[in-house]
Amino acid sequence: MNTDVLIIGAGPTGLALACQLIRYGVRFVILDQKPGITQLSKALGVQARTLEIYEQIGLADPAVELGKPADKIRLIAAGKVHEGFDLSAMGQGMSPYPYMLVLEQSKNEQILYDYLQQHQQTVLWETTLESFSQSNTGVQAVVRRGEGESQTVHAQYLVGCDGASSQVRQSLGLSFLGSTFERLFYVADTQIDWDLDHDTLHSCLARDSFIFFFPMPGERRWRILGNLPEQSAAAQGETEMAASALEQWVQDQTGLPLAITEINWFSTYRVHTRRVDQFSQGRCFLAGDSAHVHTPAGGQGMNTGIQDAYNLAWKLAMVLQQAQASLLDTYNQERLANAKNLVDTTDKMFEFEAGSNWLVSFVRTLLLPPLAKYIFRLDLVQRGLFSLVSQIGISYPESRLSLKTSTDSVFKVRAGDRLPYVVIAGESLYERLKAPKFHLLTFTNDAEAAAAAAQAQIDETLIDRLVLPLLPAVTDAFGCRDGFSLLLRPDNHIGFIAQTQVGDRLAEYFTHCLQLADFKPAPRSVTQAAAP
Ligand SMILES: Cc1cc2nc3c(=O)[nH]c(=O)nc-3n(C[C@H](O)[C@H](O)[C@H](O)COP(=O)(O)OP(=O)(O)OC[C@H]3O[C@@H](n4cnc5c(N)ncnc54)[C@H](O)[C@@H]3O)c2cc1C
Repeated sequence: MNTDVLIIGAGPTGLALACQLIRYGVRFVILDQKPGITQLSKALGVQARTLEIYEQIGLADPAVELGKPADKIRLIAAGKVHEGFDLSAMGQGMSPYPYMLVLEQSKNEQILYDYLQQHQQTVLWETTLESFSQSNTGVQAVVRRGEGESQTVHAQYLVGCDGASSQVRQSLGLSFLGSTFERLFYVADTQIDWDLDHDTLHSCLARDSFIFFFPMPGERRWRILGNLPEQSAAAQGETEMAASALEQWVQDQTGLPLAITEINWFSTYRVHTRRVDQFSQGRCFLAGDSAHVHTPAGGQGMNTGIQDAYNLAWKLAMVLQQAQASLLDTYNQERLANAKNLVDTTDKMFEFEAGSNWLVSFVRTLLLPPLAKYIFRLDLVQRGLFSLVSQIGISYPESRLSLKTSTDSVFKVRAGDRLPYVVIAGESLYERLKAPKFHLLTFTNDAEAAAAAAQAQIDETLIDRLVLPLLPAVTDAFGCRDGFSLLLRPDNHIGFIAQTQVGDRLAEYFTHCLQLADFKPAPRSVTQAAAP
C-alpha cells in the first residue's frame, strides 16, 4: 500500500485530520484497531473554535442540530441552588457560535466519519499498527488487519493520533512528562429524577469534592463528573458503582433530594497532566491525546486534538505540493507552545475546582456561590473566560509564520491571531473563507484602491483575494480607521496585517516565512490598494 499520509487512530483527532486532508486533496490512509467509532459519550463540550472549523467544511449545522448549547450555569452549595447566570451568549460578537455546544464525542466522531464516507473515503477498522521505521524518503509501517497477515504501508508521512498510550510516541522515544492527581475521579451518564432545570449546567462545589452535572440530549439525561472519597468502593478498585451508591454520594455532597434511576456508563480514572516536549520527529508527527493529556477542566481535550489536526493538515498539503519540509517545523513550534499553555491553564482551573488548599476551598465553597452571578455578568470576565475556554484566543505570535510589520501597533490584532469574527452586510466574513487556501483581504472605502486590489495579479492557485468595505464593524474589530490588508493562512490565523507595502510583505511572507522558492511577488498595485 502506498500513500502520502498514514494516520494511526480514528478518534476525533485522526478523523478530523482525515477530513482536513480531503479538503486539500491529499492522499491518506487512516486505520484504527477498534471495529468502529466510539459508542461512549466521553468528551461533551464542543468549543466555538471547533465549530468554526466544522463550519469551514460544512459540518457546523449538523453538529448544532444534534447538540444543545450550554445555556446557563447554577452553583450548588450546602443544599442551596444559587441563582444562575447565562452562558448561551457569553461570546456574543466574538464568534458565530458564542457558546459551548454540548454534543458527545461519539456524535462528533459520527459527523466526521460521515464526511469521510461522503467523500468516498473510509477507515481501515480492526487494523493495528504493529511497528514502523522511517528514512529520509518515507515511512514504512507494518499493520495487521484483524487476524490476517501483516502488511507494509509506505507513506511520505505518519501521524500518530493514537491516544494517550500512543505507540507512535513510545516508538519514537518521545518523553511524556507530567504528573497524576492523587484523587480518583469518575464520570457517569445517568438519568436523574430531581427538580433542577434540564437546560442548565450545575456545578456543586464542596469542601473536598466537586461535581458537575451536564444536561445531555435526551429526557432527564445528565453527565455527572466528579471526584470520589478514597474509601469508596470504586476507589478501592471496583469498576462499577451501583446507582444507589452514586445516588447516596451525590445527595450527600449536594444536599439535594434526587433519585438516580439509571446509569448508562460509569468509569473511574486518575487524572494525568502530561505532554511531549516535541510533536514530531523526522517524518512522524503526533496529534491529540498522543501529545498531551490534562484534566477535564474546561472541556479542552477533544477540541485541542481537532485543532492540532487543523494546524498540521495544510502544512502537510503544502509540503507535499511545493513547500520546503521545514514548514512542518512550525507545527511543532505552534502546537507545542499551545500544549504548554493548555496543561498549565487546565491544571490551574482544576486546582480551583477540586484543590484541597484551605483558602481555595474557602473561596470555592463560601465566597464564590453567592457572588458568582455578579462576577460572571461582568463583560470583562465574560469575554476573558470565553476567549480562553472557547479556544478562539489561541494565537501564534512567536511563530515563524507570523510576520511583523512597521504598522502593527495600529491594530488591535496581531499576526498569529485567529481572524476576529466580523459581520459585513449581515454576513459572517467566515462564510467567505472556506476555500482551502491563503486569503488576501483588503479593507478600503477608496474606489480606486478597491479596483486596483481586485485586479492585482496574484497566484490564484495559492491565494484567494477579497476586497471589502471598511465598515464600522471592521474598524471595531481591527482597531484601524484607514484602509489595510491582511494575509490569512488556510487555518484563518493572520500571517501579517499591514497598512502599507502589502506587495513587498506578500513576497517576504511567501519566500521567507513559508520558504516557497518560486513564489512570484505580487505587483505594486496590491500595495496601493491598501494605502489609506
Ligand atoms: C470522561 C471524559 C470526559 C471528557 N470530556 C471532554 C470534554 O468535555 N471536552 C473535550 O474536549 N475533551 C474531553 N475529554 C477528552 C477527550 O475524550 C480526548 O481528548 C479525545 O478522545 C482525544 O482524541 P484522540 O483522537 O486524540 O484520541 P483517542 O480518542 O484516544 O483515539 C485514539 C484512537 O487510536 C486508536 N489506536 C491506538 N493505538 C492504536 C494502534 N496501535 N493501531 C491502531 N489504532 C490505534 C484507538 O483505538 C483510538 O480509537 C474527555 C475524556 C474523558 C475520558
